[in-house]
Amino acid sequence: MIGCDCAVCRSSDPRDRRTRPSILIEVAADQASSFARAVTHVLVDTSTDLRAQALAHDVRRVDAILFTHSHADHIMGLDEVRRYNAVQRTPIACFADEQTLDDVRRMFHYIFTPPPGPGGGLPQLTLFRIAGPFLLGGVEFVPVPILHGHRPILGFRVGQFAYLTDCSAIPDASWPLLHGVRTLVIDALRERRHPTHFTVAEAIEASARIGAERTYFTHICHDLPHAATCARLPAGVELAYDGLVLNV
Ligand SMILES: [Zn+2]
Ligand SMILES: [Zn+2]
Ligand SMILES: [Zn+2]
Repeated sequence: MIGCDCAVCRSSDPRDRRTRPSILIEVAADQASSFARAVTHVLVDTSTDLRAQALAHDVRRVDAILFTHSHADHIMGLDEVRRYNAVQRTPIACFADEQTLDDVRRMFHYIFTPPPGPGGGLPQLTLFRIAGPFLLGGVEFVPVPILHGHRPILGFRVGQFAYLTDCSAIPDASWPLLHGVRTLVIDALRERRHPTHFTVAEAIEASARIGAERTYFTHICHDLPHAATCARLPAGVELAYDGLVLNV
């Protein structure tokens, strides 16, 4: 937090240094169809910190981008993906719901209605509206509608893994989509109630109802020190941290 001197903001534990929420899903070759690329790299959200994250974690490819929603912390790094266009020499497929696509077109107007004349690299993107499950690298991605305050946004399920960031409620119709999830990443902002994010207690409750074996909290604010919070969470529940790698 800018200008904050709290124990978490001044912590020397690298797990307390949190940049914006985003994950990279690597679909391995043995799960992919024979004609697909060996590993398909699917980025979920283009956070404000995308460039620093890609450098810190050596992200060399982005084959597709999924958007959960269009809040600034989840999309403002979109311009940075032009580096992947340059390396890969192909447009990047982007998947989002209708409202997010509208917001992306408006907020990044210059990408979709480029000014005439030379100069200035622009991302090359192909936008797709999510209307149900879709395949990437031969693997099914299932959109999971969740509520972020009053706003309907998307979580994603891949196999027995689910990613539900920016979540304050799971609608009745979405619980069946989460049946059988064993590894869950879910929003848990802090202990105090918040209008658009789960608290720690609410996230624990949702995780238990889903029946996940392993749960990782994300979108954590500076109220929660990593080590001390993990020590008091139930078995199988812990805080995620920047650079965390999960095999699912
Ligand atoms: Zn702080
Ligand atoms: Zn949000
Ligand atoms: Zn957010």
